[in-house]
Amino acid sequence: MENMDFIFKICISFVAIWNLHLSYGQTEHFRVAALFEPEYEGMILAFQNAVTKVNMHSEVGPGKNIIYDLKTIAPHDSFVANKEVCREMRAPGGIAAVFGPVSEISRAHVQSLCNAFEIPHIQAVWDSRVPREYFSISVYPDHEVLGRSFADLIKHWEWKSFTVIYEDGESLVRLQKLLETARGEEYKMTIRMLEVHQNTFTSMLKELKEKQEYRIVIDCHVSKIRQILDEADSLNMLSAYYHFHFTSLDLSQLDLEDFKFKGANITSMRLIDPSNPEVMNIMAEWGLMETNIGRSPLLGMRAIGTETALMYDAVHMYARALAGLANAHHISTETLNCNKREVWNQGNSLLNYMKAIEYDGLSGKIRFDDGKRKDFRLGIISLTHHGLIEIGHWTPKIGINITVTVAQQVQDEREMLRNMTLRVVTIYDPPYVVNLTEPNEHGRMHEGFIIDLLDELSRILGFNYTIYEESKREYGSKVEATGKWNGMIGDLIERDRVNKADIAAAGLTITYARAKVVDFTMPFLNLGITIIYRKPMKSPPDLFSFLLPLSPDVWIYMIAAYLCVSFMLFVIARFTPYEWENPHPCNEESEEVENQFTILNSLWFTIGSLMQQGSDVAPKASSTRFVASIWYLFTLILVSSYTANLAAFLTKSRMVGPITNAEDLSLQTDIKYGTLASGSTRDFFKNSNMSTYKRMNAYMNANGDRVLVKGNTEGFEKVKSENYAFLAESTSIDYQVQRNCDLMQVGDLLDSKGYGLAGPKDSPWIALLSKEIVHLQQKQVISKFYTKWWVEKSGAVCEDDTDKKKNTNALGVANVGGVFVVLAGGTIFALLVAILEFLWKVSRNARVDKQTFWSEMTEELRFIFVKCKSTRNTGGDQGTKTVENNGVTFNAIPTVPNDRNHKEVFD
Ligand code: GLU
Repeated sequence: MENMDFIFKICISFVAIWNLHLSYGQTEHFRVAALFEPEYEGMILAFQNAVTKVNMHSEVGPGKNIIYDLKTIAPHDSFVANKEVCREMRAPGGIAAVFGPVSEISRAHVQSLCNAFEIPHIQAVWDSRVPREYFSISVYPDHEVLGRSFADLIKHWEWKSFTVIYEDGESLVRLQKLLETARGEEYKMTIRMLEVHQNTFTSMLKELKEKQEYRIVIDCHVSKIRQILDEADSLNMLSAYYHFHFTSLDLSQLDLEDFKFKGANITSMRLIDPSNPEVMNIMAEWGLMETNIGRSPLLGMRAIGTETALMYDAVHMYARALAGLANAHHISTETLNCNKREVWNQGNSLLNYMKAIEYDGLSGKIRFDDGKRKDFRLGIISLTHHGLIEIGHWTPKIGINITVTVAQQVQDEREMLRNMTLRVVTIYDPPYVVNLTEPNEHGRMHEGFIIDLLDELSRILGFNYTIYEESKREYGSKVEATGKWNGMIGDLIERDRVNKADIAAAGLTITYARAKVVDFTMPFLNLGITIIYRKPMKSPPDLFSFLLPLSPDVWIYMIAAYLCVSFMLFVIARFTPYEWENPHPCNEESEEVENQFTILNSLWFTIGSLMQQGSDVAPKASSTRFVASIWYLFTLILVSSYTANLAAFLTKSRMVGPITNAEDLSLQTDIKYGTLASGSTRDFFKNSNMSTYKRMNAYMNANGDRVLVKGNTEGFEKVKSENYAFLAESTSIDYQVQRNCDLMQVGDLLDSKGYGLAGPKDSPWIALLSKEIVHLQQKQVISKFYTKWWVEKSGAVCEDDTDKKKNTNALGVANVGGVFVVLAGGTIFALLVAILEFLWKVSRNARVDKQTFWSEMTEELRFIFVKCKSTRNTGGDQGTKTVENNGVTFNAIPTVPNDRNHKEVFD
């Protein structure tokens, strides 16, 4: 191999000799100096190759060639660098430019020297010196603009918390823009230095892992990247949760095959687009050249190095500028002495030609703005299972432009998941996950609703999974004292420290607080908190259950109505003249008149009709008949309603328990109640602002372990064995109620929420799982699983007592109030009719008796209400005659009351 290398160098030397030879021929030549450190062999070869090509294609012009004197110098040896440049300037004919060196100190010295002698200095490496010497020009992208691209990426990814690792002072300058951007309060950025002196990065990586830093920006030389990734891999840090962004533009040069399927996001940017035809040609050419001479690939590697390509571009760019100047003027270089204050007169013109040039090179369009290369395109590359692919690009004008489609990204993620074995944390709680003591018919140690769901998802997405139970059997709540999360949520958050759970799959409730620290899929079951309590015993029949169909209010109103109507009937009958009649119909001469509606008769009449039995008292006057009709209507409706409701009351068994909702529970102390000690139900009560739930929370706090349970199963057992109501989620309660016929759900749901699968924040799998869950829901696969585990697997068939549980309500005033109103209205109307009848008769009698209306009325009222019974003047003409008596005249039909002969007929 060494021999081959030797032959290759001889070839290169031949090219150089040929170049020198040209200098002694007719051809006009331009001599340049090239200084390189040996480690930049790629740049050296690119430089030589580029000069050869320039000369071969007469890029400077016909008969015009570039010749060079190439020197390799030790890195950072500024003294030798200076000496070499001075020697070159002193040589006959002097030099028309200096290329290189690369190392920072030597470069700075050469720049100053070139500046002093007005010789263009051309470089192709990153240089942050501000301001740069005037005569120095670099094809490397301007460091400030490049820095902006890193900051833009962080903004695009919306990273609010990340770690920046830098290698040296130069790195910090490169990252300056990024550091400035992340200075805001919303960012949490940690900056660390790469421990290059230790030969290993393990301790630094371990620390990052400990601190759960998942987003890492690393600025280091490309040669260190592979080692960093290898060591990160050995620490399991190349999982899908990590994102490593390298600021080096040469990541494409590395062999990253080993990391393709690890899952970690490995990104970077590149200046050289390998799909550029120019780049492809050069790579093929160099590759061929290297193969022909049997040299290990340096130029024709998997990707062309940025600085190598830039040196190639720099030579071409220089040749074009030279051609431009040569076209305009005759170019003559001069011998210059470093010890004298001399300058090359045409140096400035040549520099200006270079600054004005536009050239399409391997690194894209080369254009200078104020001597700096500010307009360039960077491809954004990401490691996928297909290798490094360009997912977008960045330009100073447009910024980030991601070109890879969402569908492509999803497809990539799906393929990534296909090779994964996910670690699932759960809690054994039937019917979600049941841990079997021996394998079931499918040889599995677990079964349940969640297992079916996971199996279906793994079948569709092609992943495998292993399952373990959370050590304390807790779902996950924030522990107030430490501010940390426990349970499955804690396992997800601390996945790198503990069991490394990728997914939490159980009856895990999606809550706002949890969604802030982990990612949830779409819900696969909907539920709410409710109460489970044992069914009440059937109560013995009530002796006075006949009273139940009507509420006590209605009973009281009915008695009041009865008394009022009876009294009104009595009054109306007194008013109306048509209720006064001869008690001795055979004795038409009798002057005695009598009113059948005495108080007792009125009471008897109304009670008779209320009881639907009737009575021997029958109203005769329109007013009394009207009252009677209204009363009949009232009794009809009330009695029918009573009868209808009585039937329901007599058939219902008293299944209604002592509590019907959470409010009832909170207002009593006989029945103990509680929730799971740690879980979303407990958190619901802790965080609620509603007085009922606050009261319940205070009760649970006060009673602690006596009412709070460790698991749902313990809670349900407690309900069965004690006077205890358990507040749990409706799905779990449904499952119990279907299997334990003496348990029942009490009241409605207190809230509404869902169960979801959870993954660590930014988990790449959650979106995929979520999509499939929605799909399974649409295909009703999830409801099929629900039926299987809730209904089909239930052995017990409980008597359906939903009808019995229905509370038959006594009829209240709200139900039958209307009929009371009608009754009151009717009675008042009847009273008015009676009064009209009375007034009409009074006015008629007053005319007949020739009395005043008022005295006639006074007489008559006195008779009606004071004397109460009358006898009539026997000489009167019954029916048609008017009987006059002390001025009170009644047109007796059939008997006319006569004041004088009134006789009490009351008992
Ligand atoms: N599903 C609940 C959770 O995720 C546990 C049960 C409960 O709190 O009632 O925390």
